[in-house]
Amino acid sequence: MSTKIPRVPVREQDPKIRVTNFEEVCYGYNLEEAQLEASRCLHCRKPRCIEHCPVSVQIPDFIRQVAQGNLTEAAAIIAEDSSLPSVCGRVCPQESQCEGACVLGVKGEPVAIGKLERFVGDWSIDHGPQTVEKSPAKRQKVAIIGSGPAGLACASDLAKAGYQVKIFEALHRPGGVLEYGIPEFRLPKDKVVAAEVENVKRLGVEIETDVIVGRTVTIDELMDQEGYAAVFIGSGAGLPRFMNIPGENLNGVVSANEFLTRTNLMKAYDDRYDTPIYVGQKVVVVGGGNVAMDAVRTAARLGADATIVYRRGEAELPARQEEVHHAKEEGITFHMLTNPTEILGNDQGWVRAIRCLRMELGEPDASGRRSPIPIPDSAFDLECDVVIMALGTSPNPLIASTTAGLETNRWGCLVADENGQTSRPGIFAGGDAVTGAATVILAMGAGRKAALAIDRYLSNLPV
Ligand SMILES: Cc1cc2nc3c(=O)[nH]c(=O)nc-3n(C[C@H](O)[C@H](O)[C@H](O)COP(=O)(O)OP(=O)(O)OC[C@H]3O[C@@H](n4cnc5c(N)ncnc54)[C@H](O)[C@@H]3O)c2cc1C
Ligand code: SF4
Repeated sequence: MSTKIPRVPVREQDPKIRVTNFEEVCYGYNLEEAQLEASRCLHCRKPRCIEHCPVSVQIPDFIRQVAQGNLTEAAAIIAEDSSLPSVCGRVCPQESQCEGACVLGVKGEPVAIGKLERFVGDWSIDHGPQTVEKSPAKRQKVAIIGSGPAGLACASDLAKAGYQVKIFEALHRPGGVLEYGIPEFRLPKDKVVAAEVENVKRLGVEIETDVIVGRTVTIDELMDQEGYAAVFIGSGAGLPRFMNIPGENLNGVVSANEFLTRTNLMKAYDDRYDTPIYVGQKVVVVGGGNVAMDAVRTAARLGADATIVYRRGEAELPARQEEVHHAKEEGITFHMLTNPTEILGNDQGWVRAIRCLRMELGEPDASGRRSPIPIPDSAFDLECDVVIMALGTSPNPLIASTTAGLETNRWGCLVADENGQTSRPGIFAGGDAVTGAATVILAMGAGRKAALAIDRYLSNLPV
């Protein structure tokens, strides 16, 4: 154990080369690097890192095993609390969670918990799944709607508790945003997402794809006719928002969700697939979150000159710092304090430019961030042929509108208490469907809490 060793840097693909391909940006640690980094952990008596992990991974315990080279043990410790370590090690905002709370971060650099988790997760994929202890089989069946992180986490814990669990997924591949949203260069689909979904299936969870709950079958039919004793809704927030400015229905304006789904799920990034996608020469992505960074970096990899337009300043960017840093390294242009007011088209109805106003920052708003105020007479046009809107998403109303008595709030999110209990007995919910667009680990945490509540509900204990 030593605080003197500096944080071990992680190797990455050269920015000039990686912007021309969809291979992973970050190479991750090798064993030697992982052991050295793991040796920095102080094994605090009250580990703040665990308190700030929404799924309570026993961080110092697994790190100790990595330091000693006991990778089977390290993987088994993580598997107790997370079925998706390779995913989380890659995409979790560790800087605001476990690593943000690590004591080493007070005076220096925190332990690279995320990179160590990724190392163990990848090792586990390469060396076979961990055996996880399961409770004796129970006869009750639980239906899970959606195979994103919330659904997968809930399903894993219920399967470990002995229930018969089946996930119903609308798309043809499981994984939710991990599969259709986050690009291959940040989260490889076959190597990581499919492999970790397989681990969930090995726990006994069945996954049926191409089932749209609310269309193919309703929740009431699942409960009344198909014998499911409880249902967990983890259907996410896949409905994109637009700005409602003139020109938004011109050809060449798309949501980031559509652009990324065509690229990832429909494999537009792979030359062997003939996926319909319009990339254009000059792409403007409106927004400043992870989704905007993913869209702009994807557009650059598909050959476009790609630009971010964001109405606040750099300090207010909601995207992970690492993603912004990577985007800059890859030559993405950033127009900060810039707000679109209109999209301009040519005679054929295609985008030709986006008209923007320059902004300055005023007082903090309800979110605590300084609000952008337009600078008078500052309008200017940015030439482009594609505009991608990455302004956030909300839940699809289908499930709420086909399930009587299921309450939603004014943003269309399902109403559920801290255990995931909705307004209907036996129906639980969690993840983006309840909170609106958030993070992978928060969705997993909500799935785990709901699994506990479902177990209590089905055991006739107070939830
Ligand atoms: C492009 C992008 C990048 C992101 N980057 C990050 C990041 O770097 N780090 C991070 O922590 N978070 C990131 N997020 C956010 C994160 O991915 C989500 O918060 C998380 O996936 C939410 O999990 P979920 O299980 O609630 O929903 P989802 O992942 O959305 O999964 C919901 C699933 O339910 C299915 N479904 C929906 N309706 C139905 C229905 N009626 N019947 C059956 N199935 C249905 C959907 O097809 C989907 O598979 C990103 C999001 C996007 C879009
Ligand atoms: S807070 Fe940091 S140093 Fe302490 S146990 Fe957690 S990872 Fe180790």
